[in-house]
Amino acid sequence: MTPSIVVNQVSKSFGKKEVLQNVDLTVVPGQIYGLIGPSGSGKTTLVKLIVGMDRPTKGDIQVLDTAVPNLKLLQKIGYMAQSDALYNDLTARENLAFFASLFKLKKQEQTKRIEYAADLVNLTSELSKKVQAFSGGMKRRLSLAIALIQNPQVLILDEPTVGIDPELRLSIWKELYRLKDEGKTILVTTHVMDEAEKCDQLAMIRDGRLITSGSPSQLKEQYGIQSLEEVFLKAGGSGQ
Ligand code: ADP
Ligand code: MG
Repeated sequence: MTPSIVVNQVSKSFGKKEVLQNVDLTVVPGQIYGLIGPSGSGKTTLVKLIVGMDRPTKGDIQVLDTAVPNLKLLQKIGYMAQSDALYNDLTARENLAFFASLFKLKKQEQTKRIEYAADLVNLTSELSKKVQAFSGGMKRRLSLAIALIQNPQVLILDEPTVGIDPELRLSIWKELYRLKDEGKTILVTTHVMDEAEKCDQLAMIRDGRLITSGSPSQLKEQYGIQSLEEVFLKAGGSGQ
């Protein structure tokens, strides 16, 4: 199968500090790929490079057979940043409509997508509220809805369920499974091991290096242990 994300020998430095070192990563469609690693290991830096918000110091990245960065790719990538980028003075509906219009969705399609995305994150009854009145969890949910608004082929979600209660978390994962069954490509970062278990493939990152990758069961087998938490500790991570 043609991969939809290819990261090839990517390094990234900020000044003298090398934050990513020779990272290789391949993600195929119809897969939930989890990038796991402790805080500060380089997950956000890597996803920003994949989305095209920043450029690697070395190496190259292709998404859907197109070299990143590329303006046309933006339409095809739904990105949920780790810190919410929302308009506080606007209502949730206005935020969604703003992004929907950026992606040039037709009016009718906009209405449908806003309805779908709001329902998915359980915000339908809050759509008329200004974002400044939202809790942290509600903002996360709205950011996720925005990432889905244009029905993108590739979803890149940076710690999507932080601050979201367990019940909603479960329904979001259910929807991610449905989207992957539709053939979409989903890359999520997490430092929560129970979420890592839900991914089809995992890559563990530590100090900017990809230390191991495989399915959750392959990783457990490789290290001869029962839980991913232990794999992570054995592979040199802190699990947090
Ligand atoms: P994670 O998402 O895994 O927590 P990050 O990618 O956010 O990790 O950060 C990895 C490292 O890169 C950290 O040490 C962080 O301080 C550093 N870093 C990230 N962005 C910048 C930047 N713009 N300038 C300098 N250092 C940065
Ligand atoms: Mg991060």
